[in-house]
Amino acid sequence: MIVTLERTDSLRSGTRLLEPKWTEVLTIVPEIPGVSTYRLKFVEAADQEAYQFEAGQFNMLYLPGYGEAAISISSDPTDHSGIAHTVRFVGNVTRAISQLRVGQRIGLRGPFGRPWPIQQLEGKDLFIACGGIGLPPLRPVLYHVMRDRAKFGKVTLLYGARTPNELMYTDEYEAWRKADIAVEVTVDRGDKDWTGRVGVVPMWFYQFRIDPKASAVLTCGPEIMIRYVIFEALARRVPLENIYVSLERNMKCGQGSCGHCQVGPYFVCKDGPIFPFTALQPYFNVEEF
Ligand SMILES: Cc1cc2nc3c(=O)[nH]c(=O)nc-3n(C[C@H](O)[C@H](O)[C@H](O)COP(=O)(O)OP(=O)(O)OC[C@H]3O[C@@H](n4cnc5c(N)ncnc54)[C@H](O)[C@@H]3O)c2cc1C
Repeated sequence: MIVTLERTDSLRSGTRLLEPKWTEVLTIVPEIPGVSTYRLKFVEAADQEAYQFEAGQFNMLYLPGYGEAAISISSDPTDHSGIAHTVRFVGNVTRAISQLRVGQRIGLRGPFGRPWPIQQLEGKDLFIACGGIGLPPLRPVLYHVMRDRAKFGKVTLLYGARTPNELMYTDEYEAWRKADIAVEVTVDRGDKDWTGRVGVVPMWFYQFRIDPKASAVLTCGPEIMIRYVIFEALARRVPLENIYVSLERNMKCGQGSCGHCQVGPYFVCKDGPIFPFTALQPYFNVEEF
């Protein structure tokens, strides 16, 4: 059954939609070559206090003279001491972010977007399939599962990277596993020390036993990976309404005004980035326009 999404007001913290607020860089953690995690804190204590987000939402990060980029929030929504963003340095804004040092300032507006539907996922087995920079928006889901483990069934994270050196957050896998999350990784190309899986995420998905009726599939990463994960999920008879997709589109305003990120009738910034596949299915083959 195809559903039409209801519009939500994505703004939850009272931050004004188009006005960035200043934050300060608390820490910078290099994750893999070309990707670092920035932990930010609002300069004004009241802004920090008022700020709340949900797993899967994103902020627009702003550097004067460079512009803004949409970046997912990769920290735990219950941790109010800072807000983490894991950034891949690919272009104008993100390369400028790579030059930031601890103590310097960066503008932030948000949070924006529809989050992962955590409450609806409770009671289900979760199969989380992601690749590359698709893991950061799912890390808050893992934190949620760890905190409320009994509320979920079997939880599997299948995560792919191009090479072993490009696997992110490796120092957290042990804690995730201790919380009874099956952490399964694969790489496109191994190296001489690699003894794990080689191959793309959808290729390995079929190896995992899942109870389709009891499972929800959450996926984020390169669009080609998402498409094949969905094909595999549907082939396994996971109900359409239990498949959730995080989409990326070039976006400017973040609030559904400029139209840059439209997919069919939806604005990815406002109606997404997390979509139930039931809403997205008719438009999923439509390229960005
Ligand atoms: C909802 C949402 C959440 C996002 N979350 C994150 C996140 O957590 N971390 C993160 O690093 N990025 C994230 N992105 C992607 C990020 O917004 C874009 O990469 C953005 O274009 C970066 O801005 P820029 O000015 O640095 O690059 P631009 O100047 O816009 O792009 C420069 C060039 O880089 C290429 N490029 C842009 N994005 C990518 C990419 N993802 N991979 C490879 N090449 C690319 C473009 O083709 C372009 O030619 C997210 C995007 C969306 C819509």
